[in-house]
Amino acid sequence: MSKQVAILGSTGSIGVNTLDVIRAHPDRFKVVALTAAKQVDLLAQQCAEFKPAIAVVADADRADRLSKLLLEKKINTQVLYGPEALVSAVTQSYCDTVMAAIVGAAGLVPALAAAKAGKRVLLANKEALVMSGDLFMQAMKTGGGELLPIDSEHNAIFQCLPNSFSRDSGSSLGVEELWLTASGGPFRNTPLDQLASITPEQACAHPNWVMGRKISVDSATMMNKGLEVIEAFWLFGLPLEKIKVLIHPQSVVHSMVRYRDGSVLAQLGQPDMRTPIAYGLAWPERIDAGVAPLSLTQLAALSFAEPELERFPCLSLAFAAAKVGGTAPTVLNAANEIAVAAFLDEGLPYLQIPVVVEKVLNTIPPVNADSIELILDIDLRARQAAQLVVRNILCKP
Ligand code: NAD
Ligand code: MG
Repeated sequence: MSKQVAILGSTGSIGVNTLDVIRAHPDRFKVVALTAAKQVDLLAQQCAEFKPAIAVVADADRADRLSKLLLEKKINTQVLYGPEALVSAVTQSYCDTVMAAIVGAAGLVPALAAAKAGKRVLLANKEALVMSGDLFMQAMKTGGGELLPIDSEHNAIFQCLPNSFSRDSGSSLGVEELWLTASGGPFRNTPLDQLASITPEQACAHPNWVMGRKISVDSATMMNKGLEVIEAFWLFGLPLEKIKVLIHPQSVVHSMVRYRDGSVLAQLGQPDMRTPIAYGLAWPERIDAGVAPLSLTQLAALSFAEPELERFPCLSLAFAAAKVGGTAPTVLNAANEIAVAAFLDEGLPYLQIPVVVEKVLNTIPPVNADSIELILDIDLRARQAAQLVVRNILCKP
């Protein structure tokens, strides 16, 4: 029987790549729900092609526009809007697989709902796990569904771990360390004195991957890798000191697992998200992802280095927040989202991104992250605090 797939964030980079894999396998996958915040035209096209039962947009105006477009196209998809509709879209009984690919904290509540409802959750939205790792992993356990990491590094590690692996079995299975690779982004070699004048366009021009704007900036600052260390901590249950980051500019080795006997297992491939997406959709089978085969002989070299923490203060901030635990990663994530949005849209200087994050981390004391209400409250407070810091830096009232 075909899998019934809901895609949260279908108009984004991960969403579009997911539909690309699904398009090639109509016998295996049926799209039952598509959601987007603002891109109504693209969502209408996707609905015309994949005919989901439900489509969700951010607000009533956009829902009206989408309904009109679908009427013209004679598509009878039900149109809903708002955060609660995202939850309905992923908890329908006929849906068994949810791609969680909304960017940022907005994706947390529907991803958590999918986890509780026992769906197979394909998790791209790393921010959800950073904000509420403990609750999210508990929700997966009580829901009884499967969690498949889509982030390429975590997908690589998942592929390099034994089938019998679980969060508490790492050391008994001989797993010593997880090595997350990072390209180092577009400014890996930029002289430090030139970082002050980096523009959003430069920051979004990633050397190897084509991604949404927020994660592209996170890759440039390496906050992305910091978030991924926290993501790996929750997914795989190893102590933080056993999760290492390696700069690997070619983005061919997507991550590695070092075992007690001296073996290091790696997953290699093109830097193309359709590989981890196809793996998550079809697991435990493997299907054609539409990705060109990797040719090792055409690669000049594969190199690895330690990250320079002076160049990437966001990475140090993430390590520190991970170590503190509790709600510190929630605050880190919220402050970073505000700082990155201000860099992209309001002229916040690039080098001020870590300054905003650090100030907010110092303002909001960490507490135990033991309920979703508390996490959402801390998230909101951290955003407000970050807005204030940004306004002060930009000298806006
Ligand atoms: P994107 O910006 O291209 O797309 C984001 C999607 O989320 C869009 O469909 C948008 O409509 C939706 N969205 C945004 N805000 C929303 C809101 N408030 N409510 C409802 N929907 C909203 O982002 P992306 O690059 O596809 O990344 C998505 C997630 O996957 C992120 O968490 C990112 O860290 C993660 N991820 C992405 C990549 C990649 O290659 N793009 C790789 C690894 C992990
Ligand atoms: Mg990644």
